Amino acid sequence: MGDRRETRQGQLRDRLSAQGLDGLLVQALPNIRYLTGFTGSSALLLVRASDAVLVTDFRYAAQAPREVGAAARVEIDQVNVWERLGRVIAERPGAALGFEAHVMTIRDRERLSSLPPARWEGIPDLVERLRQVKDEDEVAAIGAAAQLAQSALGEVLPTIRAGESEVAVAARLEAALRRGGSEWHPFQTIVASGPRSALPHARISDRTIERGEWLLLDFGAQVHGYCADLTRTCVVGARADERQRAVYEVVRQAQRRALDHIRAGQSGREADALAREVIARQGFGEAFGHSLGHGLGLEVHEAPRLSSTAESALPVGAVVTVEPGIYLPGWGGVRLEDDVYLGASGPVVLSDNRVELVELV
Ligand code: ZN
Ligand code: ZN
Repeated sequence: MGDRRETRQGQLRDRLSAQGLDGLLVQALPNIRYLTGFTGSSALLLVRASDAVLVTDFRYAAQAPREVGAAARVEIDQVNVWERLGRVIAERPGAALGFEAHVMTIRDRERLSSLPPARWEGIPDLVERLRQVKDEDEVAAIGAAAQLAQSALGEVLPTIRAGESEVAVAARLEAALRRGGSEWHPFQTIVASGPRSALPHARISDRTIERGEWLLLDFGAQVHGYCADLTRTCVVGARADERQRAVYEVVRQAQRRALDHIRAGQSGREADALAREVIARQGFGEAFGHSLGHGLGLEVHEAPRLSSTAESALPVGAVVTVEPGIYLPGWGGVRLEDDVYLGASGPVVLSDNRVELVELV
């Protein structure tokens, strides 16, 4: 993906000059990776009209130049990366520079004040807005991560039995994801059984899964840094009862409607409403308390948001999750989540959307 970095930096420079800025100090690691290819855990990147300089420390002396190549000048400092940044800034004194207002700590803001004079301005989400629009390599990586995640599930699902614990299922699923080539788990895997499936972000516990209970699995995979995010809910050890079947069907229909009708150009609120209306019409409006979905990319939760308060338009090229759910405290919950590319001519579902009700008997 090396050739894309120049384009991305060019887009960033256009945005900066439109805002009257000579450069941007980039601190968010996913943004640094997006603009330079650097995958380390610590760096400062200054993108200016005529150059880009990445400052990092001794640990990355070999790795940074190899990953970054011609995308930025790399400076290694063994003592103080902020002082080194100061020397870079001093090359063009008095410049108007932006910093990432959503990332910078108060302590780092104080550090900026001690650097050579520049006019600093807090700018939120500039690179994040560029990252919303995926190129074909990024879409392919997310698609590959989704394939990997669903084949790991396909391997593990038939082995799940009533009487085993959530953590035992998670161990097999995470091992299968790793064996399949996932670089890491992009978020804490959720394996939630019985009434715990009503907790949308349940932590895995040692609870034993009982016959006839819900089992909700929310898990991901990462390929070339890009994340997929899937949720499936099934019944373990018995056929679903009537209420389980009815609630599941409402969630499935809500997801179906959203997948069929979501489009670039809609607001996040309009996309969210596609599923929310189905769930509310069946009387479960109060039981769907989270938003419909989120952007996917180098981070598992990124722009754009699909929620009842998101007024900005979903851009062509975004990849988002569609994940309606119904959560009934004490009884359990159902969520179904797939990953969708919003192309110019309509949505393309990147995951398999196998959401027929699975009963593991
Ligand atoms: Zn998820
Ligand atoms: Zn998600």
